[in-house]
Formats: sequence, structure tokens, C-alpha cells
Amino acid sequence: MPDYGHDLRFGSFITPQNRRPEAPVDLARLSEQAGLDLVTFQDHPYQHGFLDTWTLLSWVAARTERVHLAGNVLNLPLRPPAVLARSVASLDLLSGGRIELGLGAGAFWDAIEAMGGRRLTPAQSVEALSEAIDVIRGVWDADERRVLRVDGDHYSVHGAKRGPAPAHEVPIWLGAYKPRMLRLVGAKADGWLPSLGYLQPEDLPTGNKIIDEAAAEAGRDPREIRRLLNLTGADFRGSGGGLLQGPAATWVEQLLPFALQEGVSTFILGSDDPEAIQIFAQEVAPALREAVAAERSSIGSGSATGPARPARALALRRTGIDYDALPGSLAAEAVEPGDRAYESVRSSYVWSGSPGLVLRPSTPSQVADALAFARRQDVPMSVRSGGHGISGRSTNDGGIVVDVRAMNAVEVLHRERRLVRVGAGARWGEVAEALAPHGLAISSGDYGDVGVGGLATAGGQGFLGRFYGLTIDHVVGAEVVLADGRIVRADAGQHPDLFWALRGAGGNMGIATSFDIEAMEVGDVVFAALLHDASDTAAFLQAWGRLVEDSPRRLTAFLSMFPGQAANPVLAQSLIVWAGDDTGAAVAAIEPFLEPAPVLQQQAQLAPYAAIVAPHHNRHHGQARLRSRSALVDHLDGTTSAVVADLFAAGDAGMFQVRSVGGAVNDVAPDATAYAHRTQNFSLTAVVNESRHARADQAWERLGVDAVYLSFESHPDDGSLAKAFPPPTLRRLRQIKAAYDPHNVFRHNFPIPPATDQPASKTPPVAS
Ligand SMILES: Cc1cc2nc3c(=O)[nH]c(=O)nc-3n(C[C@H](O)[C@H](O)[C@H](O)COP(=O)(O)OP(=O)(O)OC[C@H]3O[C@@H](n4cnc5c(N)ncnc54)[C@H](O)[C@@H]3O)c2cc1C
Repeated sequence: MPDYGHDLRFGSFITPQNRRPEAPVDLARLSEQAGLDLVTFQDHPYQHGFLDTWTLLSWVAARTERVHLAGNVLNLPLRPPAVLARSVASLDLLSGGRIELGLGAGAFWDAIEAMGGRRLTPAQSVEALSEAIDVIRGVWDADERRVLRVDGDHYSVHGAKRGPAPAHEVPIWLGAYKPRMLRLVGAKADGWLPSLGYLQPEDLPTGNKIIDEAAAEAGRDPREIRRLLNLTGADFRGSGGGLLQGPAATWVEQLLPFALQEGVSTFILGSDDPEAIQIFAQEVAPALREAVAAERSSIGSGSATGPARPARALALRRTGIDYDALPGSLAAEAVEPGDRAYESVRSSYVWSGSPGLVLRPSTPSQVADALAFARRQDVPMSVRSGGHGISGRSTNDGGIVVDVRAMNAVEVLHRERRLVRVGAGARWGEVAEALAPHGLAISSGDYGDVGVGGLATAGGQGFLGRFYGLTIDHVVGAEVVLADGRIVRADAGQHPDLFWALRGAGGNMGIATSFDIEAMEVGDVVFAALLHDASDTAAFLQAWGRLVEDSPRRLTAFLSMFPGQAANPVLAQSLIVWAGDDTGAAVAAIEPFLEPAPVLQQQAQLAPYAAIVAPHHNRHHGQARLRSRSALVDHLDGTTSAVVADLFAAGDAGMFQVRSVGGAVNDVAPDATAYAHRTQNFSLTAVVNESRHARADQAWERLGVDAVYLSFESHPDDGSLAKAFPPPTLRRLRQIKAAYDPHNVFRHNFPIPPATDQPASKTPPVAS
């Protein structure tokens, strides 16, 4: 197997000498500017006049932006593996996933001993390296709940805490020459990293053979292992013939067989000469890439798609998905079971999932590719933006998730018109942070991690709602990928029906990739948090409701009620936002909220709007598993308050929330958008105890309401759809659904059946 099919990469190999401490840093920056992919440093922690390589890597990571970094190779005997694992993971997180791990078993044992290290025999040093790899990978396995135990002869850890996980799949490359080390590469490592100067002509094919055999023995595909090569002793000015002595063209000619016959895919220039680094990056690298690509395509060998998947990961693939047919445009960011990133993308905030494939497109056309691919498979498909869906299950079991999180840009298109464009994958906390410097804000909700895509297609009952309206009321256009793959803009002039439906029932119509929204001028707001003893639950609720309805529109109040501990009372937390920085007016409006019940805590502050919806960046693992009921009501009247009080008294409610709507929300005509409920003042959510949901559902029915907000409803019956969309709205939605999604591709969030009295659709199923 001469060519393992990896993409070609080029790097530099710099001496960490400290005669001028900035010198290696300058060379690293030059490498990045010249276009190299990788910067590496020798690691000889005992060497007189050398900087410490790990410190240098950290410094360089902060001074560069794109280039990947590695020790070449790090001296294991002087770097305890559990700590090294954390160092690598930390720097990988801080640098945005740019750290690779080159490791060596150790050489120069006198110097290692002189530094307090332990002298090992060659056999012991390989065993130690093998144990170290287990420790390092164990520490990185942050999703494993159990503490880490490795009982090695050289490295043992007894109950080590795991994590952090690195930001990306950090490969472990070993500097190896002798058979024992080469077998370890084949069995456990991700790359082989020798130096040309230490190799005899036959060493590369022999080494590859040993590695490939050891890989096969370990049940691995040899293509999992990248072959790297340090080009030491090379000289562009050399003229005496010989390997890599002469101009760039000679190098390209001589390196081509290394790539095609010896399987080398990463070439690392060992030189501290700035001119050599530049020639290597700008002349050798592009020409060699081109030559290798041309050879590969002419002989049809090598996949050029990167490393093969490990056999253990292949075994986790799900039936019904043709993984090999995944378009190249999506493959690089796709995540499957067995990938390190899988744990962080499999679930949403509310739902635990085990999808067979998570696609992470970053452009609308990639979304169209993802959708077309998903439609050709025989598995469920979910759409995900921020992953906070309660009704919408943005994950599944065994299916495909189209996750648009990467499309999270926030742009101010026109400051005077307050026009902003937000990517569907952004979270509202991020949107608020990005708009704050412009003095703008969009009312969204109460939680900064909620995603734009789910909320801006459903409604958006936010902290500035009574003054500003719903989020959807200010959406003036959206870009949408339709079921048939078309990418369209929907606004008042183009696809107006679709635009109407998107604002309230968007999840049924397509995948929105961005929204144009009119923001409002907002700087600081007054934010108050009050905690009441709501033992007299019904009376408190009625009084609270009256206060909200009597308040000026600049005031929006959200209420969360929780059962107290043991015999303690029901607790009621009010979060009240005054849309503006007039503290006098705000205090006058907020003070009455102290009255309805004994106050346990109170605080108020003037704060930037962005601070009250700051993102939490929570990792999703289905942690908020909840069953939720929704109701939209005009008033918190006697019936409503009694039902809530009974839910708490019976222990059937884990939490009850009220979001005030009304005000500007109700200025919009019921037929202006697919969100038709424009008379109600309150949006209620009961989070009911799973074990008692039947009783809680019965109690909820006593409300007798005919209006729900689907974002807070997880009851699956058809009645919910009718309550979300009154008959004229639902009729129109079904017709629009028939026109834009006749085959009901988007059916995983309270599906709207396409109208059947519609002329046959122009959107056939995607051909396979
Ligand atoms: C803790 C918490 C607090 C909340 N607070 C509020 C609040 O104050 N006000 C409020 O109005 N809502 C609130 N919600 C509800 C929230 O608005 C909805 O759950 C919303 O769907 C979440 O959007 P998301 O992108 O994070 O969800 P996801 O889980 O990513 O998606 C949910 C569903 O939305 C649809 N969807 C997602 N992305 C797209 C897209 N790009 N194009 C088309 N359809 C898409 C899909 O049907 C998907 O199944 C809250 C939810 C939680 C969990």
C-alpha cells in the first residue's frame, strides 16, 4: 500500500534556542504567513540554551491564528503523561483545535537522568510510551463518567479525574525507528514521525511494513496512520547533487516518490533559515501538492479524503445510512458514532439521542447537500440550530441530524434601519453580545443558549416582548433551504406565503439558514429579580397577573414557581425587565411587584441587555429531560390560578412558568403571521413530573384553553396542533405545506399535514 491517501501537509521544524528568545517565535509566525500547515519544535528539556518547548508552544499558539503546532517530538520521560494530557487538551481548547501531539520514548538518557528522569532500557521505554498513551487518551475521554485507572509498570494513575477533552481529535504521532517502536505505532498511534537524517534508504518501506502489519494485528486499517517525515539536512542552495540539495523543482521531483511510494503525507522542513521556510512553503508545497494530485488522479489510486476510519468506529455505523455516499463537501465536518466529537453532538439540551450521523454544513448549499443526502437515506432526519427544542426533537436515534450551528454569523446590515442578519446557528446570547456594541438588541427569550433557528421560526417570547413584540414580528426576510433543495429568500415580496408560514410554523417548511431582523435601539435595561414566598399560590398568581397587565409596556415580567423543600412554601421568582435606562420610571413600575406576598430576596440593577441573556455555553447531553405543557391565556384568573395551585399541592409540577406576552405582541393582527394568538397576555408552561404526567395532564385540561405555544408543548396529541394554529391559520399552513413540502420531509416537530386538495406539487422527492 504505497499511498495511504491522506491529504498533503507541510510544516516547519524549528530549534527552540534562546539566544534571541523571539527568534523561534518569529520563524513560527513566518511559517504561518508563508502558508505552512504546521509548526513543530524540538524538545530537549535538558539542553543548554534551549527554551522549554511546551512554554514556547503556548506562547506561539497565542501569537498565531491558523497554523497547527506540535512538539517534534516531546520527551516523555520528563513529561508525566497525565499532566501532559491536560496541557495538550488545554492548549488545544485555547488555540481553537490547533495542537497535535508528537511523542518520543526518550533518548540521551544521561541528560534525562541529570534532570531527575529515570533511565530506562529501550524495551522499557517503549512499554512506558505505550502506557503513557493509555493514560493520555484516558484523561482526554471526558465523557467517561468513571475516574481513570491505569495500572502500568511505568505509569499508573489511580482514580484520576478526566478532562478536559481537547477541542479536536488530537493525533498522537510517535518518533520511531526500531521495530518495537514501529509496532507500537501500528498498534496505538495516529502517526509515524521519523527524521530523514536518521533513515537508511530501506527504512521507510520496512518501517511501513512493520507498522501496517501491527495495525492489522490490532484490528486497525493501516490508512488510519499518517506517515510524516522531518526533512533534515536539506539545502536549497546545495549544488553537489544528492537528496534535497538544490532548487525547489529538484525537491518536488525527489519528494514525489516519498508521497506516492513511501506513503509520506506530511513533510516537515528542519531549518531555522527564514528563506528556506519561505521557499518550502511557497514553491515546494504547492508544486508537490499539484504533482501528487495529478498522479493520484491519473492512476486512480488513493482517496485523498484523509485517513480511513478505524474498524471499531466502522462497527458502530447504523443501518439505513449509505455513509460512503456522503458528498465530500460534508464529509470533513460529519460526525459519526465513534468520533471524539460524537458525545458533544449526539444529544440536545432536552433530549438524549444516538443518531447515526450528524452533518454540520456551514453554507446554504451544504445544507441543501445535507438535506438531499438525508432524504435519500431510509432513516429519520432532524434539524438542529441551538439544540434547545422542547417540542422539536433536534436529535433522534439511528437517523441523521442536520446541525446548522456553524452558520452563526451576526451582521449589522444597515445601522440606521437597525437591520441585522443572524445565522440560524447562532445562540441568542451570542446575538445580544454581537449587537450590544451597536446599541441594538432583539427580544428573543430568557435563555442565552437558545438557538436562533428554532426560536425565530416559532415565535420568540422575550424579555423585551411587551415593548417590542415577538421575535418573529421583526423578521423581515429569511433564507431557506426547501425540501427539494432550492435555496430561496422569503420576504414580503418573494415567496410571501412561505414568509408568512415561516413566522410561527417555520420548522415545518424548510431549513432556515439566516434571518434578517429589525432590531431595536437598546443599551442598558433595568433588571430586577424578586423571590417571593408564594404559599398562597393562587392568590399570588392572580395579583401578579393583574400587576403585569396594569404595567407600562416597557415592563416585561417572567415568573418561575418551584415547589419548596419539604414543608417550605412554593417559591416564586420574578424576573422583570424594564426596556430602557430610566431608573426612576423603572423603579416606579417594579415596586408594586414587591406587594403580593412576603419577599424573600430582591435585587435590581442597571445592566446591558446582553448581560441578562448571556450565553452559558452548556454542553448538551439531554440534561433537562422534561415533559412540558403550554397554554396561552388572557388573564391569570381564578381558574388558572387554582389549577396551578393544585398542581403544586399534589406534587405534580416540577416547575411552572409565566412569560408575559401582550403589549406589542398583541398589536400584530392574528392573520399577519402563522402565530395567530394575539389576544393573550400570558404564556404558561408547566414542567410536569414524568411519573405523574397523566394526573398533571388531567389537571391541565381543566384550564380549558384553546391556545398553546408549541415551543413549550411536549404533549404529542393532534389537539396541540389545533390549539397552536386556529382553523384559518392551519388551513393556510396546510396549503403552503403542500406547495413547499408536499412529501412532509419536515415532520419532526408537530407535523402539519400537507393539504390534499392542492394541485400536484412541483417538488418531487430527491432522486437517488
Ligand atoms: C431553557 C429554555 C428556555 C427557553 N426560553 C424561551 C423563551 O424565553 N421564549 C421562547 O419563545 N422560547 C423559549 N424556549 C423555547 C425555544 O424557543 C424553543 O425550544 C426553540 O425551538 C429552541 O430553538 P433551538 O434552535 O435552540 O432548538 P433546536 O433544538 O435546535 O430546534 C428545535 C426545533 O426547531 C426547528 N428548527 C431548528 N432549527 C431550525 C432551522 N434552522 N430552520 C427551521 N426549523 C428549525 C426544528 O423543528 C427543531 O426540531 C426555551 C427553551 C429552553 C429549553
